[in-house]
Amino acid sequence: MKTTVEDGRGRKRTLAAGSAEPALWGLVGNTPLIPLPSSTVFDRPLPSVFLKAEWLNPGGSVKDRPALFILRDGIARGELPAKRLLDASSGNTAIAYAMLGAAAGIGVTVCVPANASVERKALLEAYGAEVVFTDPLDGSDGAIRRARQLAAAQPERYWYADQYNHPANPRAHYLTTADELWRQTAGRVTHLVAGLGTTGTLMGTGRRLKERNPAVQLVAVQPDGPFHGLEGLKHLASAIVPGIYDPVLPDRTAFVATEDAEEEVRRLAKQTGLFVGWSTGAALVAAERLGAPSSALVVIIAPDSGDRYLSEQGRLAGERR
Ligand code: PMP
Repeated sequence: MKTTVEDGRGRKRTLAAGSAEPALWGLVGNTPLIPLPSSTVFDRPLPSVFLKAEWLNPGGSVKDRPALFILRDGIARGELPAKRLLDASSGNTAIAYAMLGAAAGIGVTVCVPANASVERKALLEAYGAEVVFTDPLDGSDGAIRRARQLAAAQPERYWYADQYNHPANPRAHYLTTADELWRQTAGRVTHLVAGLGTTGTLMGTGRRLKERNPAVQLVAVQPDGPFHGLEGLKHLASAIVPGIYDPVLPDRTAFVATEDAEEEVRRLAKQTGLFVGWSTGAALVAAERLGAPSSALVVIIAPDSGDRYLSEQGRLAGERR
């Protein structure tokens, strides 16, 4: 049986009442698509630009979607809740697992680089996740290697979810994000701009949108220059390339300097009241540089909000490092 509820922000959600899944799981997805006044992004009369507000997921980021689909897969395989879910994450996936796992009585162990923001560490603590901190110098690769080691050493204790290789990661976006965007733009989306971490967002959403309309342009955003913590964007520049990544799918890759992304975040908050995370700032810069025609409808995935980086006050104030 299905029941429709309002989520407190006036959005209607359909919950499977009486199903085995916690009601909290039913709140994942169906995020708003927010139009940006074009003058805030482009300095000439140009395309319609929309932000997919993924920070409005219950766990505060886009990663609620793949985490939910991966948890469902672990349950379907009979691995969860008998074992603990184990994975590597730069933070947002870890929080999503921890929150959704807590709702369902599923134990969660996450390997996270030790330089994760204090907001992330506090949230993981609050949700009761077991956290294994790894060397910040080894970045996400170090966290992945540690998770692999733990999984190999204690297979009876852990189910290694492996979001970098798990098909449920892009599939979550293929089945939810893409169809929401298609509906919300009445099929008029022409460009999708998304940062690359595990690549699940761009692979899943992009593949489905291209099936609907092969002319849709997919823009992958990566950091340019030294890595200053553009959350979730470093992996493809590093040694471990996600198994779910298909290099043929993106139409182009945009490299954005951290400083430019930060400037964009500060500007957007002041000009529109939308306070987004650093990777959204990078995607906004990439969108500006597209040179898309005024007939274009550009969708930018906004994975998380600036709230998740409040402790990084120097970057918010625009101080030079
Ligand atoms: N931005 C942020 C803030 C993220 O947390 C992530 C995911 N780690 C991404 C971008 C990239 O998303 P994906 O893993 O789907 O490529």
